[in-house]
This record gives sequence, structure tokens and C-alpha cells, in this order.
Amino acid sequence: MADCPICRQRPAVPEYKPFCSKRCADLDLQRWFSGGYAIPVGPDGSAEDEVEPE
Ligand SMILES: [Zn+2]
Repeated sequence: MADCPICRQRPAVPEYKPFCSKRCADLDLQRWFSGGYAIPVGPDGSAEDEVEPE
């Protein structure tokens, strides 16, 4: 059985496959979102405006 890719300490469970728990599944999701697309977005959904220094 494959180990959890997050903690690598416990086997995956069918409910949260391929993770061992909801905690690890959430951690992977957060890492996925913040890993490749580290774009700061405000509460209103608008990205930070570009500022061109003189
Ligand atoms: Zn885990």
C-alpha cells in the first residue's frame, strides 16, 4: 500500500486517497494552490496594481 505523500508516515485511506487523512489532503491542496501560483489576491478578488517607480 502506498504511503501518504504528505507525511510519508501512514498508509493512504480510501476516503482521502492518496492521503492518510483530511489534514494531509488539505495540506496538499494548500501547497498546490500556493506553490505554482503565488499570486497575491485581495479580498475583492483584484490583483495588486503594478507600480512603476519614476
Ligand atoms: Zn499523511
